Amino acid sequence: MFERWVDTMSLDIDGSCSDIGCWIGKLPKGCELCMEGLKSVVFITGICRENCFYCPISPARRGKDLMYVNDVLVSNIKDIICEVEASGSKGIGLTGGDPLVRLERTISTIKLLKDFFGSIFHIHLYTTGLLLNDGVMNKLVNAGLDEIRIHVVNDYSWRALKTALRYPISVGIENPVLPKMFENLKELVIKAHNMGVEFINLNELEFSEGNYLSLRLRGFKPKPGSVAAEGSEDLAIRLLEWVKDSGLNVNVHYCPAVFKDKYQYVKRLKRRALNTKLVFEAVDEGLVRWASIISCPESVLSKLVLSDQAFIIGNEVVTSIKVARALGCRYYVVEALPLTPRKVLNKF
Ligand code: SF4
Repeated sequence: MFERWVDTMSLDIDGSCSDIGCWIGKLPKGCELCMEGLKSVVFITGICRENCFYCPISPARRGKDLMYVNDVLVSNIKDIICEVEASGSKGIGLTGGDPLVRLERTISTIKLLKDFFGSIFHIHLYTTGLLLNDGVMNKLVNAGLDEIRIHVVNDYSWRALKTALRYPISVGIENPVLPKMFENLKELVIKAHNMGVEFINLNELEFSEGNYLSLRLRGFKPKPGSVAAEGSEDLAIRLLEWVKDSGLNVNVHYCPAVFKDKYQYVKRLKRRALNTKLVFEAVDEGLVRWASIISCPESVLSKLVLSDQAFIIGNEVVTSIKVARALGCRYYVVEALPLTPRKVLNKF
């Protein structure tokens, strides 16, 4: 039993944790895909009946019945297919708010994506469990849900876990690590283990536009140069060490705040850039670049346009940087996020 933990543990010998996080036991399938940038995030609604003081949702979304896919606002669930396809995702995470507040929308989304991408397409869902019961679980599982993650906020979250564990899908817990709550987290792990919960995901507590004031008023501080809260990672690592020493047969995964920006988001952008690259664009990491022509030697420009090497878009003539340079054109480089439409970041 002890060897299992040694073999499958990612904590460094000195007890530190890399940017991709650390874990004991097996990672949930949803996290494995996320680490490769293969998960899209579907924000089902901004409505939630909880009022967690650490809720990271932005004021623009909180309490609003809006739907986003990878930060793109969508008005129809069919739009989700386009964005997921463009991003080359092999699964989605359904989040919010609480997706169960809009159960029919959630069910339709699961069915639609499973029909389109096939049963192998992996879908996980986050909820506190307030609205979860057998009727809801039956609908979710029949629609094709693969994994449910309960954010434990109250007794009803534990009841929801008990209900979910009766169904043939992966059931886990996902909570932020609030500094100084070591004993509470220990209790959570022991209880989850005794119930047979498959995994516990712990997220580094993060400051956001939506929770900054609330966290500061409670004495939490951001780490210098970071959005992560001081003390959160230290506590998570302490907890992993304790799990290792306790010999409990439970999968615990700690996900640092930096992971999302540095890996999950960038890898997804890279895939989106490659999947949606236009002929005149060059892909560099998670960005696309092209040349916007200022002037070219006589007659070159019309030849470029006629041979589909340059394109007139609005008031601009665009081409690849390589072509513009080779033909001696004057141009500036446009650098953009590979979104639809492209989000220009720099011109130089
Ligand atoms: S349950 Fe989640 S979405 Fe709802 S208030 Fe808490 S953190 Fe925000």
